[in-house]
Amino acid sequence: MPDKSQISRRDALAASVAVVGSTTLAARAAASAAVKAEWIDAHSHIWTSDTSVFKLQPGITVEDLAPKDFTAKDLMAVAAPQGVGRVVLIQHNVFHGADNSYLIDAWRQQPDRFRVVAIVDDLRSNAGKAMRQLFQQGVTGLRIRPRKGITDWLQTDGMINMWKTAAETRQSMCCLMNPEHIAEVDAACQRHPDTPVVIDHFARIGVDGTVREKDVSALSGLAKHKHVKVKISAYYALGKKRPPYHDLVPMIKRLFEAYGADRLMWASDCPYQLTGDNSYEASIALIRDHIDFVSDKERRKLLRTTAEQTFFYNQ
Ligand SMILES: [Zn+2]
Repeated sequence: MPDKSQISRRDALAASVAVVGSTTLAARAAASAAVKAEWIDAHSHIWTSDTSVFKLQPGITVEDLAPKDFTAKDLMAVAAPQGVGRVVLIQHNVFHGADNSYLIDAWRQQPDRFRVVAIVDDLRSNAGKAMRQLFQQGVTGLRIRPRKGITDWLQTDGMINMWKTAAETRQSMCCLMNPEHIAEVDAACQRHPDTPVVIDHFARIGVDGTVREKDVSALSGLAKHKHVKVKISAYYALGKKRPPYHDLVPMIKRLFEAYGADRLMWASDCPYQLTGDNSYEASIALIRDHIDFVSDKERRKLLRTTAEQTFFYNQ
């Protein structure tokens, strides 16, 4: 999730929910987790400047890539030391559009390590056919988003075809959207009650620096649809946008009360999480070491099991 907005420099207010963690404990947890590599990052991008093999979208050049390269190897170099062994790779619309070949290639090379959330052209009425083909290539989710100039973005023939297909294949409809789109997703979930849905990055609540109660309430309300899950991710882009991100803990707690550990999953959103003062470790540490309202078993679900069941199911 590229975000150009300014990082808030206001003084940090103490989060209303208590946090725990000591450097020693955190270091020990990281060290033992690294050995097992048991965690799953439910959302990262990768790309390459080698356009001889993987083409960029028309109008995009290698100069637009920042960083220039962020390959699977680069990703695992920051993820593995934190105990992350598997990652869900997310198609980057701006760079590659609906050409998912780079991510699929990464999956082919390491099918146990990666799954792919791809993009298909949802304006094609038979978009579901492309989803079924991609399902054979490690694609267990589809990235969808509001399209400019299309008012009912979830009611086009192609989108309806996708939601119906997903109810059969169990591929998740992964929504990159803002709080104002929650009501439309709510309506779509009523029309397609069996379709798995994953909301990216808390529906970007707090992207302008303010986490609004009405937005948190609306996102919590989507929990009434039993196949909706939420990625608790992209901390660099939400609220104060500064480690240790404790200002986001109250929102995470609210969602935990609404969805439970079985329907929330941690994700980094790399390489964007690596910008400025942010880091991979700061992201996973918020869930692994700092929240005190979950049991060990629930924490394991947030960091592994939910993503495993959602994206790493057998083809
Ligand atoms: Zn992203």
